[in-house]
Amino acid sequence: MLDYYFTKEKLLKREKDYKIDVFTPGEIFFEDVGDKPRNAIGKIMQDRKMTLFKNKILKEIGKNFIAFEDGTKMECDLAIVIPPYSAPKVLLDSHLGDEKGFIPTDTQMRHLDYANIFAAGDITALAQPKLGHIAIIQGAIAAAAFMRELGEDVTIPAYKPEIFCIMNMGGHKATLIASDILYGGTKDKVFHSPLAKMMKWGFDNYLYYNKGHMPPDLALEATDKLVKFL
Ligand SMILES: Cc1cc2nc3c(=O)[nH]c(=O)nc-3n(C[C@H](O)[C@H](O)[C@H](O)COP(=O)(O)OP(=O)(O)OC[C@H]3O[C@@H](n4cnc5c(N)ncnc54)[C@H](O)[C@@H]3O)c2cc1C
Repeated sequence: MLDYYFTKEKLLKREKDYKIDVFTPGEIFFEDVGDKPRNAIGKIMQDRKMTLFKNKILKEIGKNFIAFEDGTKMECDLAIVIPPYSAPKVLLDSHLGDEKGFIPTDTQMRHLDYANIFAAGDITALAQPKLGHIAIIQGAIAAAAFMRELGEDVTIPAYKPEIFCIMNMGGHKATLIASDILYGGTKDKVFHSPLAKMMKWGFDNYLYYNKGHMPPDLALEATDKLVKFL
């Protein structure tokens, strides 16, 4: 999006006026998905002349540089860094979670040690990676498990996590990724198109104007069917 903004709106030239470098502390960039989405994102980055640096563990952020533990430095005007995840202090202090404060649960979202505690979303140790799509899957399971606890005759959905996200790329483009490779599945899809942008736009607006309520099942089933065709 930043590249689009610089090129299309600020009319800057890649490499001459600016350059975007991407770094990760990991061996693999985009390690939560399989080769197909990873290579597609790699190609988009290549086309935009971005350089990827792996095994870069952040040591210091200065006024116009960032330094890494391997002794290297990058000059920059703008550094965007995603910090390590951890739970809010209230949960860290409660000692209900692991060393980062994340709540250990079974796949029905019940705390492993306290049967009267349910958790869903980013706060669970099971949410890997931390994604809204996974939070929603877990939320439905936690709600069903809780209703069962209250004596309701409901089926608790099986826990089948998957990566599903649509990344805006600026302008009319977005990239949809649907993959369950991380969880032992075979789904590994990528779709870079204005249609993905429309889906994201539709979802965002629906959620916003309906105060956070999910779109109707029909729309979600249509999305599943579309992803199967990709
Ligand atoms: C920049 C960014 C982009 C993202 N893009 C995507 C994406 O495209 N697709 C996707 O699927 N996911 C995306 N995610 C991840 C997604 O936002 C999260 O996985 C999702 O919001 C998790 O939902 P949650 O309900 O578990 O937690 P949250 O949405 O974090 O909700 C937790 C709530 O608890 C509240 N809270 C915290 N402490 C307290 C307290 N002490 N008392 C009371 N309330 C408290 C917080 O204010 C917050 O409202 C993105 C995340 C970020 C940061």
